[in-house]
Amino acid sequence: ADTSGAQRKIVDNSQEPLSLPKKTPSFTSLGISDPIVRALANMSIKLPTEVQAACIPPMLAGKDCIGNAKTGSGKTFAFALPIIQSLSKDPYGIYALVLTPTRELAFQISEQFAVIGSALNVKTSIIVGGMDMMAQAIDLRNRPHVVIATPGRIVDHLRSSTGEWDLSRVKYLILDEADRLLTSTFAPDLSYLFGVLPKERQTCLFTATLTPAVEKIADATPRAGKQKPFVHRM
Ligand code: ADP
Ligand code: MG
Repeated sequence: ADTSGAQRKIVDNSQEPLSLPKKTPSFTSLGISDPIVRALANMSIKLPTEVQAACIPPMLAGKDCIGNAKTGSGKTFAFALPIIQSLSKDPYGIYALVLTPTRELAFQISEQFAVIGSALNVKTSIIVGGMDMMAQAIDLRNRPHVVIATPGRIVDHLRSSTGEWDLSRVKYLILDEADRLLTSTFAPDLSYLFGVLPKERQTCLFTATLTPAVEKIADATPRAGKQKPFVHRM
């Protein structure tokens, strides 16, 4: 029989809810370092949201992951924090590629990387359509750690080799708004990218809508001994 204090308390007190909410962890207990915790506190962010609490540990532990949570639930930091956190151990080359369906989303993601990452010298590049290819190519020579891109434009760059592109060190591939990326519109660009990215990488998907295509993607890029992705459902 379970004689833990928590159990007895539920039995002893009829006012107690039967299912106690899980204690909210701290960013520190999820494995996030002090400089990042301080940067979050500066923007009055003290505790992780549910999707952050669920996805940060598996992302830091090297697992693929699918984070399904509604709009406004903090999915951006759910991937940006573990990327910035693990970056400091391996600061050479393009470390993370974040794909998103629109330019506007790319800029929003970049702002969130900047508020946390700029104090830690994390460099990001935005590679989206409707902007000068040459300027973007030059920006790549600043050796960004994180590239935030729309699929079409980054593939344009790779095909035309305008920049000093080296995706061979990408450790994290993030598909943000994955339900929108995994549609026929982006299929040719994504399959090109899957072809050039290293197989030894983490693929992490974030979406407000868990479509069959999102659930299937994890199996689309198998590698030997790879575990099933961690899935957080809302
Ligand atoms: P989503 O991608 O899930 O739609 P965002 O990542 O854009 O959501 O986050 C929405 C807002 O919530 C942003 O303004 C962000 O700064 C804020 N936010 C993120 N994480 C937290 C947190 N742990 N506590 C409070 N606010 C947060
Ligand atoms: Mg989002």
